Amino acid sequence: MHPEMDLDSTDVAILRCLQADGRASMRTIAKKVGVSVPTVSARLATLEQLGIVRGYTAFIDPERLNETPVTLVIKTKLQSAEKVAKELARRERVRRVSVAHSGWVVADATVPNREEVDQLLEEVAGLEDVVDCQHYVNVRTLKDVPRALVTDSLTTTLICFQCKGPIKGEPIKIRMDGRDHYLCCHSCERLYVEKYEKMKAGA
Ligand SMILES: [Zn+2]
Repeated sequence: MHPEMDLDSTDVAILRCLQADGRASMRTIAKKVGVSVPTVSARLATLEQLGIVRGYTAFIDPERLNETPVTLVIKTKLQSAEKVAKELARRERVRRVSVAHSGWVVADATVPNREEVDQLLEEVAGLEDVVDCQHYVNVRTLKDVPRALVTDSLTTTLICFQCKGPIKGEPIKIRMDGRDHYLCCHSCERLYVEKYEKMKAGA
């Protein structure tokens, strides 16, 4: 069992603000959501630790940089999709990889210019367990937005704040500084509390 947790309306509102503007300040978010700055800061820390907010980054347009985005649809040997996907994920030019069921991998890659498309395809075709690879050069992209759909009812599965692994069964919940922290086992709990207290003493 992987325990699930609902996000409340404050979390959802914070996510909406940040997805609209990743540079929004805590103060701006607090005003928009109607909560205090410390609340935003605490909620964001939890959203980051849950792996929901993965980072804050500039949304750079590859087409404005005259780069060439390519979509790859790769057929692999039946049991090898995961392995091929991992191999692809190691490459810098591959920007996103998804494993589909039964031997299919879909990947988005970006190459610096059109001439390098062939080189990429040869490389992919040469990978072990790749059976076939179709590709589509994205001539014109009409929509390209971050994938998470922020709706009013969102849930997440808990991950351990220390080891970042999935929590199986009942999570260990500890309350510090007015918010909940989730751990998978007592050794993670001990390490986490140690780290947390050290960080607080330093701050
Ligand atoms: Zn853990």
